[in-house]
Amino acid sequence: MQRRDRLFEIARQTRGYMPDDEGETLYRAARAACERARSGAVLVEIGSWCGKSTLYLAAAAEEADGIVLSVDHHRGSDEQQPGCEHHDSSVLDARTARIDTLAFFRATITEAGVEDRVIPLVGDSATIGSFVHTAVSLLFIDGGHGEVPARRDWSTWAPKVHVGGLIAIHDVFEDPNDGGRPPYEIWRDAIDTGRFEAFDRCGSLAVIERRSVDPDH
Ligand code: SAH
Ligand code: MG
Repeated sequence: MQRRDRLFEIARQTRGYMPDDEGETLYRAARAACERARSGAVLVEIGSWCGKSTLYLAAAAEEADGIVLSVDHHRGSDEQQPGCEHHDSSVLDARTARIDTLAFFRATITEAGVEDRVIPLVGDSATIGSFVHTAVSLLFIDGGHGEVPARRDWSTWAPKVHVGGLIAIHDVFEDPNDGGRPPYEIWRDAIDTGRFEAFDRCGSLAVIERRSVDPDH
């Protein structure tokens, strides 16, 4: 079995929220982003959870000499807390009764053999973003889906993506009956600025390409 297929297989077995076809679309976007960067591409993931989507990015990074910075405080989003729709009680830490996905994430990365490609950044995404000053080739936004966290992730991280770089936004639903609004709204607002163009689409994963920079950054 090819190495990439092995990583996809582990991703499929990892708990999380990334459908197989959308994950493979994310991989192709990351691969394209690595080629545009030529060497040393930096791929940023906001929302590691247990490493499912991370492996699609890692597969591209491995093939094209890139790295993945995977950002998460590992405490779960508001919509994943006990009693909420997307809660998974198997990731509760019995001692603290809080979500803790960090050990699950590390186990995934170790099993897949991508510890050299994936750098976990554990903390609040906006705080981490405030001291990361590198140019980003692909940004994958899949952190908190509320209005405030989604907009903050966009305003913190999107300006770091260079012209020709890609931004993949997960859980983009045109129809409000299918899911929450903020990921759709940041995607729509980005297109409306005229500085981004559609690059690819699969299910709720929307990939856009930066065509120009924001004048205020
Ligand atoms: N990409 C994952 C799913 C991510 S779920 C997959 O493929 O399965 C959303 C993640 O965003 C959660 O792990 C949560 O802890 C993280 N998150 C939410 N708000 C955050 C914040 N402000 N800073 C860092 N991580 C955050
Ligand atoms: Mg998602």
